[in-house]
Amino acid sequence: MKTLVAIFAHPDDESFGIGGTLARYSKQGVSTYYLCATRGESGTVDPEMMKGYDTVAELRSNELECASRELGLAGVHYLNYRDSGMLGSEDNRNAASLFAAATDDVARRIIGHIEELHPDVVITHDQFGGYGHPDHIKLHQATMRAYELMYGIQFGTNEKGLTTVVSTAAGSSQAIPRLYVTAFSRKFLALAVRLLPLAGQDPHKFGRNKDIDLVQISSWFVPITTTLNVRDYIPYKERASACHISQRPPTQQPNLVARLAFRRAQHLETFSRIYPPLKKGEHEETDLFA
Ligand SMILES: [Zn+2]
Repeated sequence: MKTLVAIFAHPDDESFGIGGTLARYSKQGVSTYYLCATRGESGTVDPEMMKGYDTVAELRSNELECASRELGLAGVHYLNYRDSGMLGSEDNRNAASLFAAATDDVARRIIGHIEELHPDVVITHDQFGGYGHPDHIKLHQATMRAYELMYGIQFGTNEKGLTTVVSTAAGSSQAIPRLYVTAFSRKFLALAVRLLPLAGQDPHKFGRNKDIDLVQISSWFVPITTTLNVRDYIPYKERASACHISQRPPTQQPNLVARLAFRRAQHLETFSRIYPPLKKGEHEETDLFA
Protein backbone atom coordinates (compact mmCIF):
# COMPACT_ATOMS: atom_id res chain seq x y z
CA MET A 1 0.00 0.00 0.00
CA LYS A 2 1.51 3.32 -1.12
CA THR A 3 0.91 6.68 0.51
CA LEU A 4 0.95 10.18 -0.96
CA VAL A 5 0.84 13.36 1.14
CA ALA A 6 0.11 16.73 -0.50
CA ILE A 7 1.19 19.69 1.65
CA PHE A 8 -0.44 22.96 0.61
CA ALA A 9 -1.54 26.16 2.28
CA HIS A 10 -5.26 26.57 1.68
CA PRO A 11 -8.52 24.72 1.15
CA ASP A 12 -8.73 24.74 -2.72
CA ASP A 13 -4.98 24.36 -3.48
CA GLU A 14 -5.53 20.58 -3.59
CA SER A 15 -8.30 20.76 -6.21
CA PHE A 16 -7.60 23.71 -8.51
CA GLY A 17 -3.97 22.80 -9.13
CA ILE A 18 -3.49 19.07 -8.86
CA GLY A 19 -6.96 17.64 -8.29
CA GLY A 20 -6.53 15.26 -11.22
CA THR A 21 -3.35 13.82 -9.74
CA LEU A 22 -4.88 13.32 -6.29
CA ALA A 23 -7.99 11.71 -7.79
CA ARG A 24 -5.90 9.48 -10.06
CA TYR A 25 -3.78 8.08 -7.26
CA SER A 26 -6.58 7.66 -4.77
CA LYS A 27 -8.68 5.80 -7.38
CA GLN A 28 -5.63 3.60 -8.09
CA GLY A 29 -5.52 2.56 -4.44
CA VAL A 30 -2.86 4.94 -3.09
CA SER A 31 -3.67 6.32 0.38
CA THR A 32 -3.78 9.99 -0.50
CA TYR A 33 -3.81 12.65 2.23
CA TYR A 34 -4.08 16.40 2.19
CA LEU A 35 -2.06 18.23 4.84
CA CYS A 36 -3.55 21.72 4.73
CA ALA A 37 -1.72 24.49 6.60
CA THR A 38 -4.63 26.88 7.16
CA ARG A 39 -8.41 27.05 6.85
CA GLY A 40 -8.36 29.81 4.25
CA GLU A 41 -9.57 32.44 6.74
CA SER A 42 -8.45 35.38 4.57
CA GLY A 43 -10.30 34.42 1.42
CA THR A 44 -12.92 36.97 0.42
CA VAL A 45 -16.36 35.44 0.49
CA ASP A 46 -19.68 36.81 -0.77
CA PRO A 47 -21.89 37.45 2.28
CA GLU A 48 -24.69 35.27 0.87
CA MET A 49 -22.33 32.27 0.90
CA MET A 50 -21.82 32.69 4.64
CA LYS A 51 -25.40 31.57 5.36
CA GLY A 52 -25.27 28.76 7.91
CA TYR A 53 -21.63 29.46 8.87
CA ASP A 54 -20.23 31.56 11.70
CA THR A 55 -16.77 31.97 10.23
CA VAL A 56 -14.99 31.81 6.87
CA ALA A 57 -12.79 29.06 8.37
CA GLU A 58 -15.87 26.92 9.00
CA LEU A 59 -17.21 27.49 5.49
CA ARG A 60 -13.91 26.69 3.81
CA SER A 61 -13.22 23.60 5.96
CA ASN A 62 -16.62 22.37 4.90
CA GLU A 63 -15.81 23.03 1.23
CA LEU A 64 -12.57 21.09 1.68
CA GLU A 65 -14.41 18.13 3.21
CA CYS A 66 -16.65 18.08 0.14
CA ALA A 67 -13.61 18.20 -2.20
CA SER A 68 -11.89 15.47 -0.22
CA ARG A 69 -14.87 13.16 -0.77
CA GLU A 70 -14.90 13.90 -4.52
CA LEU A 71 -11.17 13.22 -4.83
CA GLY A 72 -11.42 10.05 -2.74
CA LEU A 73 -8.84 11.23 -0.21
CA ALA A 74 -7.97 9.02 2.76
CA GLY A 75 -8.03 12.09 4.99
CA VAL A 76 -7.46 15.81 5.50
CA HIS A 77 -5.08 16.94 8.24
CA TYR A 78 -4.55 20.55 9.30
CA LEU A 79 -1.39 22.32 10.50
CA ASN A 80 -3.71 24.84 12.17
CA TYR A 81 -2.09 28.11 11.16
CA ARG A 82 -4.10 31.11 10.08
CA ASP A 83 -4.25 32.14 6.42
CA SER A 84 -1.87 35.11 5.89
CA GLY A 85 -3.61 36.61 2.85
CA MET A 86 -1.61 38.17 0.03
CA LEU A 87 1.69 39.92 0.77
CA GLY A 88 1.22 43.28 2.52
CA SER A 89 -2.28 42.52 3.80
CA GLU A 90 -3.27 43.11 7.42
CA ASP A 91 -3.51 39.33 7.95
CA ASN A 92 0.28 38.99 7.50
CA ARG A 93 0.69 40.54 10.93
CA ASN A 94 -1.64 38.17 12.77
CA ALA A 95 0.52 36.25 15.26
CA ALA A 96 -1.30 33.00 14.46
CA SER A 97 -0.67 33.35 10.71
CA LEU A 98 1.53 31.01 8.74
CA PHE A 99 3.50 34.07 7.59
CA ALA A 100 4.34 35.05 11.19
CA ALA A 101 5.27 31.51 12.28
CA ALA A 102 8.90 30.45 12.64
CA THR A 103 9.90 28.14 9.78
CA ASP A 104 11.20 25.54 12.25
CA ASP A 105 7.86 25.53 14.07
CA VAL A 106 6.04 24.84 10.80
CA ALA A 107 8.62 22.18 9.89
CA ARG A 108 8.10 20.42 13.23
CA ARG A 109 4.34 20.29 12.72
CA ILE A 110 4.90 18.85 9.23
CA ILE A 111 7.28 16.23 10.65
CA GLY A 112 4.62 15.09 13.12
CA HIS A 113 2.30 14.27 10.22
CA ILE A 114 5.01 12.67 8.05
CA GLU A 115 5.94 10.41 10.96
CA GLU A 116 2.32 9.41 11.35
CA LEU A 117 1.48 8.88 7.66
CA HIS A 118 4.79 7.45 6.31
CA PRO A 119 4.41 8.82 2.78
CA ASP A 120 6.24 7.39 -0.24
CA VAL A 121 5.66 10.66 -2.10
CA VAL A 122 5.33 14.24 -0.82
CA ILE A 123 4.09 17.14 -2.97
CA THR A 124 4.24 20.80 -1.96
CA HIS A 125 4.33 24.32 -3.44
CA ASP A 126 7.24 25.49 -5.57
CA GLN A 127 9.80 28.02 -4.29
CA PHE A 128 7.94 30.93 -5.95
CA GLY A 129 4.71 29.95 -4.23
CA GLY A 130 2.92 29.26 -7.51
CA TYR A 131 1.65 32.79 -8.05
CA GLY A 132 3.70 34.33 -5.24
CA HIS A 133 1.38 33.76 -2.27
CA PRO A 134 3.42 34.21 0.93
CA ASP A 135 1.78 31.16 2.57
CA HIS A 136 2.79 28.99 -0.39
CA ILE A 137 6.40 30.21 -0.20
CA LYS A 138 6.55 29.68 3.56
CA LEU A 139 5.20 26.15 3.26
CA HIS A 140 7.76 25.30 0.58
CA GLN A 141 10.55 26.48 2.88
CA ALA A 142 9.11 24.64 5.87
CA THR A 143 8.75 21.38 3.93
CA MET A 144 12.42 21.60 2.83
CA ARG A 145 13.35 22.29 6.45
CA ALA A 146 11.37 19.23 7.56
CA TYR A 147 13.41 17.11 5.12
CA GLU A 148 16.63 18.62 6.50
CA LEU A 149 15.64 17.82 10.07
CA MET A 150 14.28 14.34 9.34
CA TYR A 151 16.62 13.03 6.66
CA GLY A 152 19.74 15.19 6.85
CA ILE A 153 19.28 16.52 3.31
CA GLN A 154 20.73 19.99 2.77
CA PHE A 155 18.97 22.26 0.30
CA GLY A 156 20.27 25.38 -1.40
CA THR A 157 19.11 27.86 -4.01
CA ASN A 158 20.75 27.92 -7.44
CA GLU A 159 21.34 30.95 -9.68
CA LYS A 160 17.81 30.63 -11.10
CA GLY A 161 16.29 30.81 -7.63
CA LEU A 162 15.41 27.12 -7.66
CA THR A 163 15.57 24.86 -4.62
CA THR A 164 18.19 22.16 -5.19
CA VAL A 165 19.70 19.38 -3.11
CA VAL A 166 23.20 20.34 -1.96
CA SER A 167 24.01 17.20 -0.02
CA THR A 168 22.39 14.08 1.38
CA ALA A 169 23.30 12.42 4.64
CA ALA A 170 25.82 9.67 3.93
CA GLY A 171 24.85 6.13 4.80
CA SER A 172 21.28 6.92 5.74
CA SER A 173 19.28 3.71 5.50
CA GLN A 174 15.90 5.39 5.96
CA ALA A 175 13.50 5.35 3.05
CA ILE A 176 13.15 8.99 2.09
CA PRO A 177 9.87 9.96 0.42
CA ARG A 178 10.20 11.30 -3.12
CA LEU A 179 9.70 15.07 -3.00
CA TYR A 180 7.89 17.06 -5.68
CA VAL A 181 6.81 20.65 -6.13
CA THR A 182 4.05 21.79 -8.46
CA ALA A 183 5.18 23.42 -11.71
CA PHE A 184 2.96 25.48 -13.98
CA SER A 185 2.98 24.61 -17.64
CA ARG A 186 4.84 27.46 -19.35
CA LYS A 187 2.92 26.81 -22.57
CA PHE A 188 -0.33 27.40 -20.72
CA LEU A 189 0.95 30.59 -19.08
CA ALA A 190 2.23 31.95 -22.38
CA LEU A 191 -1.15 31.23 -23.94
CA ALA A 192 -3.02 32.96 -21.11
CA VAL A 193 -0.75 36.02 -21.24
CA ARG A 194 -1.38 36.28 -24.99
CA LEU A 195 -5.13 35.65 -24.93
CA LEU A 196 -6.31 37.62 -21.90
CA PRO A 197 -5.75 41.09 -23.43
CA LEU A 198 -7.91 39.98 -26.39
CA ALA A 199 -10.71 39.44 -23.88
CA GLY A 200 -10.11 42.87 -22.38
CA GLN A 201 -8.35 41.46 -19.30
CA ASP A 202 -5.04 42.62 -17.95
CA PRO A 203 -2.75 39.57 -17.48
CA HIS A 204 -0.94 41.55 -14.76
CA LYS A 205 -4.18 41.66 -12.73
CA PHE A 206 -5.67 38.19 -12.90
CA GLY A 207 -8.03 36.37 -10.53
CA ARG A 208 -11.08 37.42 -8.62
CA ASN A 209 -9.05 39.77 -6.42
CA LYS A 210 -6.96 40.97 -9.38
CA ASP A 211 -3.81 40.24 -7.40
CA ILE A 212 -2.22 37.58 -9.61
CA ASP A 213 0.37 38.77 -12.13
CA LEU A 214 0.50 36.12 -14.86
CA VAL A 215 3.26 38.01 -16.72
CA GLN A 216 5.52 37.86 -13.67
CA ILE A 217 4.64 34.21 -13.05
CA SER A 218 5.53 33.29 -16.63
CA SER A 219 9.01 34.75 -16.05
CA TRP A 220 9.65 32.30 -13.20
CA PHE A 221 11.20 29.05 -14.28
CA VAL A 222 10.36 25.80 -12.54
CA PRO A 223 11.66 22.93 -14.68
CA ILE A 224 9.05 20.26 -15.37
CA THR A 225 10.43 16.79 -14.62
CA THR A 226 7.12 14.96 -14.40
CA THR A 227 3.94 15.24 -16.45
CA LEU A 228 0.85 13.29 -15.46
CA ASN A 229 -2.00 12.66 -17.86
CA VAL A 230 -5.15 13.01 -15.77
CA ARG A 231 -7.68 13.15 -18.60
CA ASP A 232 -9.75 10.29 -17.11
CA TYR A 233 -9.92 12.07 -13.75
CA ILE A 234 -11.08 15.52 -14.92
CA PRO A 235 -14.68 14.87 -13.79
CA TYR A 236 -13.45 14.24 -10.22
CA LYS A 237 -11.28 17.35 -10.33
CA GLU A 238 -14.16 19.45 -11.63
CA ARG A 239 -16.54 18.21 -8.95
CA ALA A 240 -13.90 18.79 -6.25
CA SER A 241 -13.19 22.28 -7.61
CA ALA A 242 -16.91 23.02 -7.63
CA CYS A 243 -16.98 22.27 -3.86
CA HIS A 244 -14.88 25.43 -3.38
CA ILE A 245 -17.66 27.55 -4.75
CA SER A 246 -16.81 30.50 -2.43
CA GLN A 247 -13.42 30.75 -4.19
CA ARG A 248 -14.82 30.68 -7.73
CA PRO A 249 -13.10 27.68 -9.35
CA PRO A 250 -10.92 28.46 -12.41
CA THR A 251 -13.24 26.54 -14.72
CA GLN A 252 -16.16 28.70 -13.54
CA GLN A 253 -14.42 32.02 -14.23
CA PRO A 254 -16.81 34.58 -15.64
CA ASN A 255 -14.18 35.27 -18.31
CA LEU A 256 -14.68 32.86 -21.21
CA VAL A 257 -11.07 33.05 -22.40
CA ALA A 258 -9.70 32.24 -18.96
CA ARG A 259 -12.19 29.40 -18.63
CA LEU A 260 -11.23 27.91 -21.99
CA ALA A 261 -7.51 28.26 -21.27
CA PHE A 262 -7.95 26.35 -17.99
CA ARG A 263 -10.05 23.66 -19.63
CA ARG A 264 -7.53 23.22 -22.40
CA ALA A 265 -4.64 22.83 -19.97
CA GLN A 266 -6.22 20.73 -17.29
CA HIS A 267 -5.68 17.21 -18.62
CA LEU A 268 -1.94 17.51 -17.93
CA GLU A 269 -0.61 18.23 -14.44
CA THR A 270 3.06 19.04 -14.12
CA PHE A 271 5.61 18.73 -11.33
CA SER A 272 9.27 19.29 -10.60
CA ARG A 273 11.12 16.59 -8.66
CA ILE A 274 13.39 17.93 -5.94
CA TYR A 275 14.37 14.66 -4.27
CA PRO A 276 15.90 12.43 -5.44
CA PRO A 277 17.53 15.01 -7.74
CA LEU A 278 17.31 14.37 -11.46
CA LYS A 279 20.21 12.35 -12.83
CA LYS A 280 21.95 13.45 -16.01
CA GLY A 281 20.17 11.99 -19.02
CA GLU A 282 17.13 10.91 -16.99
CA HIS A 283 13.91 11.14 -19.00
CA GLU A 284 10.81 13.05 -18.02
CA GLU A 285 8.61 10.97 -15.69
CA THR A 286 4.96 10.18 -16.19
CA ASP A 287 4.37 8.78 -12.68
CA LEU A 288 5.20 10.18 -9.24
CA PHE A 289 5.92 6.66 -7.90
CA ALA A 290 8.18 5.59 -10.81
ZN1 LIG B 1 -3.23 28.63 -1.71
